[in-house]
Amino acid sequence: MRTFSSLGVALLSLGVVSAQTVSTDATCGGTVGFTCQGSTFGNCCSSNGWCGSTAAYCGTGCQSGFGTCTSTSVSSSTVVKVVSTSSTTKISATASPTAPQSAQQCLNGKNVPYKMTSDAAYADLVEPYNLRLPYKPAVVVIPTTNQHIQDAVVCASQAGIKVQAKSGGHSYASFSSGGKDGSMMIDLQSLQTVSVDAAGVATVGGGVRLGNLANGIWNAGKRALSHGTCPGVGIGGHFTHGGYGHTSRNYGLAMDQIVAADVVLANGTLIKASSTQSPDIFWAIRGAAESIGIVTTFYLQTRPAPANITYLQFSFTDILKSKTTFTNTWLHLQDVAKNASVTNSKLSFGVYMDNYGTFSLSGAYFGSVADFNSTVRPELLRTLPTSTATVESLSWYDYLVKVSGSTTIQVPTTGYDEHDNFFAKSLTVPESTGLTSAGLDALYDYLQTSGSIDYYVIINLYGGPGSAINSKDTAFAAYSDRNSLWVLQNYGATAASIPFVNGINSAIINAQPQTSFGAYLNYVDPSYDAATAHKLYYSTAVYSRLATIKSQVDPKSVFWNPQAIGA
Ligand SMILES: Cc1cc2nc3c(=O)[nH]c(=O)nc-3n(C[C@H](O)[C@H](O)[C@H](O)COP(=O)(O)OP(=O)(O)OC[C@H]3O[C@@H](n4cnc5c(N)ncnc54)[C@H](O)[C@@H]3O)c2cc1C
Repeated sequence: MRTFSSLGVALLSLGVVSAQTVSTDATCGGTVGFTCQGSTFGNCCSSNGWCGSTAAYCGTGCQSGFGTCTSTSVSSSTVVKVVSTSSTTKISATASPTAPQSAQQCLNGKNVPYKMTSDAAYADLVEPYNLRLPYKPAVVVIPTTNQHIQDAVVCASQAGIKVQAKSGGHSYASFSSGGKDGSMMIDLQSLQTVSVDAAGVATVGGGVRLGNLANGIWNAGKRALSHGTCPGVGIGGHFTHGGYGHTSRNYGLAMDQIVAADVVLANGTLIKASSTQSPDIFWAIRGAAESIGIVTTFYLQTRPAPANITYLQFSFTDILKSKTTFTNTWLHLQDVAKNASVTNSKLSFGVYMDNYGTFSLSGAYFGSVADFNSTVRPELLRTLPTSTATVESLSWYDYLVKVSGSTTIQVPTTGYDEHDNFFAKSLTVPESTGLTSAGLDALYDYLQTSGSIDYYVIINLYGGPGSAINSKDTAFAAYSDRNSLWVLQNYGATAASIPFVNGINSAIINAQPQTSFGAYLNYVDPSYDAATAHKLYYSTAVYSRLATIKSQVDPKSVFWNPQAIGA
């Protein structure tokens, strides 16, 4: 427990009783402890050694062993101002009125770094990637140790505040800001370790962004992992909810490479989860980490980076000009995607389409340019309109830079400041039906109605012969989408696009009533109510197992967002 002097705090105003005996920082008890009697934090000294007055704070009852229990009431107008010399830990008179005071005192008592709404740094810390959903956390914890995370989770639990970790902050729904106002955001930006051991297992901090991850393991012996392309996306959300890149049909999803994880649970314990240690939690965090705990460290099985990889990109100008051409093109691409004589694990591709008439097919081939040009390219392009092509051999690192959309994959570890304002949703298309001509016709017709809406549609190949993604099932991880041929991302700029983007999904779904579409966890769609989200993301059996695990490890739903397990 911290004492007044070790805090280095200055008591500016106390109010009621002697400064010698009454707790100044909400801590109480012990041989040198304060009494809570008369404290503005409340008169009850809880079993955890904290002063408090609410049921949540002293829920386990006053404990005389920790100090004086009393029912003496204290004027609610009494104000204690405690100013810290620490740059990150303070209680100020202007603290957020929405921040439960008990959590703040608890964080102080455990010396956990945090920022309140009144702090100058707060606005930048809580500015989400998706500016459309700017939730206001009650408090932003900035841990530098696992113990800080453990303590913060306990403080939130005791105070009844919901918790979400922030890794890269790229949640489409701003769930790392809580998905509502008033949560505790635990910003993992200080957890930046990237190292690789002799077996090729990378130890990676929970706040590392994908570009720095790829850069770090490359520097540690030219190692590679499969993951998405955007360098600013965080490992925490991306790896625990799938994680697709054009390496995934060959190497698997990002999450498939997690061999173990250090996880802080709702009761504040730190455990190692793997296929042999806490296997249920290991299963659950790969699909629903945000509901189960906070992954402080990931252990990832890397592989030697290939010397070269073939990057491919074909731009078409005529496909979007005619419904017949559009639908026939897609039916042809689908034939190629399912044809084992052309498509194996070496090939990945996806198509980007937008309201400016762009139809661009791009991907990767784990083989030489000559091999691609002779075995895949003729079949891929057969019957399609002419295109402008780029097919080139790149070193692994140059490939990562190329697909990053930037000139470097390295990202600042603090002060990241890229944002967007958008609404997006996904559609997973099962192999069993694929996209039908009716669905494609409906998609084409609908896209013609966009008017002035800025949108794009990306359709990536997940399945087909040799797909490492679909070689696993739900016994492996809490990720249900192991049978998709295609995954669509439908994106629109600003809130003005919401009805139009919803309509893209509806157009396809209505045209293919026989198809069981789902949704991709990493393109989390906040417009779904919890029950719909659970059904689309997990399916019934996986959700049911997740709900059981959740009830065991987080019965108070400390880890919560509007679509969390149990929400
Ligand atoms: C520009 C951009 C490009 C993208 N590109 C791709 C792509 O190529 N492929 C692809 O598959 N997806 C892609 N995505 C989607 C991306 O994978 C998801 O948005 C992902 O969840 C973001 O992870 P994050 O850590 O940045 O997000 P955050 O907002 O930090 O977290 C998302 C969720 O995960 C939880 N969480 C984060 N860290 C932890 C942790 N350590 N322990 C427990 N829970 C945690 C948060 O609480 C939150 O609920 C992209 C997104 C954007 C915005």
